[in-house]
Amino acid sequence: MTEKVFYQDSYQQTLNTTITAVQADRIEFAATIFYPLGGGQPGDQGTVSCNGSSLNIVDTRKGETADAISHQLESETHELQIGDEVTLKLDWERRYKHMRMHTCMHLLGSLIPVPVTGGSVGAEKSRLDFDIGDNQLDKEDLTIRLNELVQSETTLALESITDEELDQNPSLVRTMSVQPPRGAGTIRMIRIGDIDYQPCGGTHLSNTSEIGPVRVSKIENKGKRNRRVHLVFDD
Ligand SMILES: [Zn+2]
Repeated sequence: MTEKVFYQDSYQQTLNTTITAVQADRIEFAATIFYPLGGGQPGDQGTVSCNGSSLNIVDTRKGETADAISHQLESETHELQIGDEVTLKLDWERRYKHMRMHTCMHLLGSLIPVPVTGGSVGAEKSRLDFDIGDNQLDKEDLTIRLNELVQSETTLALESITDEELDQNPSLVRTMSVQPPRGAGTIRMIRIGDIDYQPCGGTHLSNTSEIGPVRVSKIENKGKRNRRVHLVFDD
């Protein structure tokens, strides 16, 4: 099991921890600040340092055992061993862009109150797919309303509900393709004031203003009912 420090503090950029598993170029630590690929958000990159030498971590994935997180090294050639004390450092520039994009996806979803069928977050661009039905979407109108939400300087809060409470309120789950993990007893909920409230395991900003200016760059038809909304930073 890997302690997920990014769940308590998504802004922590370095961490001292210990190696708990080594398998060729994949390493597990007692704790990590690296977010693993999931929910449309890429796995984090960065470095692991031990005894003065530093190695690149090129990807982060969920591990083979429950609750483990696997960190992919650039090379299989290394001397890291179980028990080694190491320092992890995030590629913060990349991760912070993911946080800005991911948080903005919540805002975008709040403006289009239909089921979300898929999505992808990137450091430069992101997209969200909607089962739109007969609704119409307008690029310029969405861009204006999205930036208004960004500029509303709304604080994000981390909350939790029980599995049963979620079962009784299934409409809280916006993303049809990603169901929140059950079995732990509680579900992690993200509240953005009165804009959005849903289960989410991603990494978020603490305030919407940090997203900065954004623009809906394209709305694509993906079949009769589906629309793909593309988003970019506009700074
Ligand atoms: Zn989220």
